[in-house]
Amino acid sequence: MPEPHLAHDTAGLLALDREHVWHPYGPMPGRQQPLLVESAAGVRLRLAEPAEGRRELVDGMSSWWSAIHGYNHPVLNEAVRGQLDRMSHVMFGGLTHEPAVRLAARLVEITPEPLRHVFLADSGSVSVEVAVKMCLQYWRSLGRPAKQRLLTWRGGYHGDTWQPMSVCDPDGGMHGLWSGVLPRQVFADAPPPGFDAGPDPAYEAHLREMIGRHADELAAVIVEPVVQGAGGMSFHSPAYLRVLREACDEHEVLLVLDEIATGFGRTGTLFAAEHAGISPDVMCVGKALTGGYLTMAAALCTTRVAEGIARGEVPVLAHGPTFMGNPLAAAVACASVDLLLGQDWALEVKRIEAGLREGLAAAAGVPGVKDVRVLGAIGVVQLEHEVDMAAATRAAVRAGVWLRPFRDLVYTMPPYVTGNEDVARICASVCDAAAAG
Ligand SMILES: *Cc1c(COP(=O)(O)O)cnc(C)c1O
Repeated sequence: MPEPHLAHDTAGLLALDREHVWHPYGPMPGRQQPLLVESAAGVRLRLAEPAEGRRELVDGMSSWWSAIHGYNHPVLNEAVRGQLDRMSHVMFGGLTHEPAVRLAARLVEITPEPLRHVFLADSGSVSVEVAVKMCLQYWRSLGRPAKQRLLTWRGGYHGDTWQPMSVCDPDGGMHGLWSGVLPRQVFADAPPPGFDAGPDPAYEAHLREMIGRHADELAAVIVEPVVQGAGGMSFHSPAYLRVLREACDEHEVLLVLDEIATGFGRTGTLFAAEHAGISPDVMCVGKALTGGYLTMAAALCTTRVAEGIARGEVPVLAHGPTFMGNPLAAAVACASVDLLLGQDWALEVKRIEAGLREGLAAAAGVPGVKDVRVLGAIGVVQLEHEVDMAAATRAAVRAGVWLRPFRDLVYTMPPYVTGNEDVARICASVCDAAAAG
């Protein structure tokens, strides 16, 4: 075992990593050796040592949907540096500061009306916890404590803490182990696939029936709008979101949209709810909020929800993470949103969408490929079987691209700054990975 201070060589660091460091969804000790990243700039990750003959990889993942402007961006670096020289953190209880206030006001401005109040959380999962707490507390404050369950559709993903796990897909998802331990929620069938597919009246009736039947015990419906991300990378018709909005209004149930993956332009509109022309009672954002620089998320709610909570016996929202509103994260989030809206981001997403459609068309002919789909800056190749993750990842790296396939999926959501040649290269690597996996 090398001493920690001696372990600056790649082999030493990887040995320490294996011995001590837990990785996402991984065993301990780790079975797959991670790649050691030395630095990142633009859309390229630089490895400490070559892997499959490559020292640099084009990033096809945006670090799990977050790094929309790429890495080491001068404007975002400057936002962090400038804030660092003023203060990196102060507690948010009893104190406030410009970066958090500016960010909250900006989020209210760019999200659908009538979202108006912002709870800054330190991760997406925590923002979902807060959103759920808001909804349950709203009904409790109104004297209807029986309304404490959630309805969602199958195939979703909302994070890895307790309440979010309870609304992730119960089968085939990552949290099946905990059925029987988690709060028991109400599951509707997964939405029929296809963004452009005409809405299925039988499915719409199913949604209405489920919400109606459980209305007395439902605090809220929570779904990912238009794209179900980590639950299976599937797309559905925005029409179903309009049905949810109507049924929720009819039956006095709140609607929570989890835009943590879809927010900030990824699906072609700034927020996916815009495809449906609806607005939720509570909305979660995260991932791309800080341009992938620091961990921050937010739960936004309407005045109706906030006022409902304020009318209760306990009129406060009892939630207050230590690092709530962190100034560094808030400052870089403001800069990231300004950077996004200061350019024709929709055109860039369309450009990438066109590149993905063209480049991934070849995958449709690969043996073992079941479906190829593209929406906004998201490209998905679904296999007929579980992907061999190690083989698929190796094939992508050999092609000079970083991908992270899972389940039966090889997919990409590149940074919006990815040039056409790099988009083509990512597509070629997705096809290679699909063939190898
Ligand atoms: C990633 C994600 C989350 C969880 O966010 P974390 O920051 O990883 O806790 C929740 N919902 C959706 C839709 C996500 O994609």
